[in-house]
Amino acid sequence: MDDRPRTILKPQTIAARALGAGRPTTTALTPPIDVATTYLRDADNGYSSGYVYGRQDNASVQQAEAQIADMEFAREALLFTSGMAAATMVFLALPPTHIVCPNVMYWGLRRWLQDVRRYGHDVTFVDMSNLDEVRAAIIPGKTGLVWIETPSNPLWTITDIAAVAECAHRAGALVCADSTAATPVLTQPLDLGADIVMHSATKYLNGHSDVVAGALATAHRTELWERIRSVRNQHGAVLGPFDAWLLTRGLRTLDLRVKEQSRSARALATRLVGHPALSSVLYPGLPDHPGRQVAARQMSGGFGGMLSVRVKGGAANAVAVAANVHLWRRATSFGGIESLIEHRSSIEGDGSPCPDDLLRLSVGLEDPDDLYRDLSHALNVLT
Ligand code: PLP
Repeated sequence: MDDRPRTILKPQTIAARALGAGRPTTTALTPPIDVATTYLRDADNGYSSGYVYGRQDNASVQQAEAQIADMEFAREALLFTSGMAAATMVFLALPPTHIVCPNVMYWGLRRWLQDVRRYGHDVTFVDMSNLDEVRAAIIPGKTGLVWIETPSNPLWTITDIAAVAECAHRAGALVCADSTAATPVLTQPLDLGADIVMHSATKYLNGHSDVVAGALATAHRTELWERIRSVRNQHGAVLGPFDAWLLTRGLRTLDLRVKEQSRSARALATRLVGHPALSSVLYPGLPDHPGRQVAARQMSGGFGGMLSVRVKGGAANAVAVAANVHLWRRATSFGGIESLIEHRSSIEGDGSPCPDDLLRLSVGLEDPDDLYRDLSHALNVLT
């Protein structure tokens, strides 16, 4: 039974109002930062406030968690010290099982999963955009989790969340979707059948390149979810109040940022197609992208602010383009206000499915014409 709470407000309104939170005593409109690490105990030895100790109880953290839960139409959300902490917590909380993961996914997590046997799990990596491969990899009664990342970093392939969830659930497996690149503005994985949605909140949710954080949100309060909560508390992987407060502030403009970044990314991708210095442009909003149909069905309001380009002539030319831009900043990460360019294979290293001629582009909030001019100037040097 789907018993998730659902407000009549749109995610855009929930985010902008920060749930309407303020301080009742002063009527201040902005939520305060709650920094206490411990809370008063009642005379009868109880904790009637419900707050006991800072590692598990903090109002600033709960504020941001509630915002994310509402935007994802989730039962509940939990914040972590990073996206990696959020993701690994799911695997650490799972009893030993068989897991199906995508070949194309955030490289840091893929690398960690290659060694996950030490926690008792078996992993099969598949092309998650190919449903036949996914079906063949799921073992009924044995597979406990299917991990999805869509659009997937850094090739921006698309996974059909509803179709994968159906296969997984039929076999008794849960589905967790890394929706970092899509954000709750463009996709609601829980509505499409995922059990848990995950975000590197370091990216779009915070959006200002000044907080490292991760989030999980669940459709149901399952046994796994309760274990995730206790592993987070036991490992002490909870976000600090200052970071949670900054995250709440970032979330308030999430909708505007993501829609604008998606518009600009689509405009840029469209203009870059056919550039003589490029062999391909990878963006799910392009008409000939293999995942375009699925993306159009499961994403609304845009196809995201991330794209990649493959530069003719290999790695040296790709690095030369990144060296010759001025507006774009050479840096890793994505989802912030400033546009970033990155030669991705130099960070992902051996064993990555990322080709060495690929540049990953995170489109920020600058004018897309300025961004195009800067990039095409660097590309034209090669032609
Ligand atoms: N998931 C995706 C899709 C990412 O791109 C990243 C980081 O780049 C992560 C998870 C890990 O997040 P964090 O860097 O916040 O640990």
